[in-house]
Amino acid sequence: MRVWVACANRDKGAMAMKVCKAACIGCGKCKKACPHDAITVENNLAYIDFNKCKLCRKCVLECPTHAITDAGFAMTAQAMAALAAEKKRQAEAKKAETQKQQGENDSNK
Ligand code: SF4
Ligand code: SF4
Repeated sequence: MRVWVACANRDKGAMAMKVCKAACIGCGKCKKACPHDAITVENNLAYIDFNKCKLCRKCVLECPTHAITDAGFAMTAQAMAALAAEKKRQAEAKKAETQKQQGENDSNK
């Protein structure tokens, strides 16, 4: 089983996406999502420390360009349900954050 960043492009986001839609754009979402502090982002490119990585795959779900790839995982019904639940939790957290920001913006008007 393995999780890795399938990109070596150090260009900034828009430039990287010009050459490849699945490029790492250095957004840092994977780093924020990693509960084991296994990811660093340097020069617009994410790196995974395989000594720290616990193969939880939260970064795979979070990466907007799908630059992070996984392989060798048995996709059991339980694993699929766990991934779906994590994705739902992330979507709800994002929605709540957006609503909170809108509320703050409205109260500042
Ligand atoms: S698989 Fe989990 S532990 Fe490994 S880098 Fe991704 S988020 Fe971090
Ligand atoms: S989430 Fe994806 S695009 Fe963003 S820094 Fe991580 S690997 Fe790169």
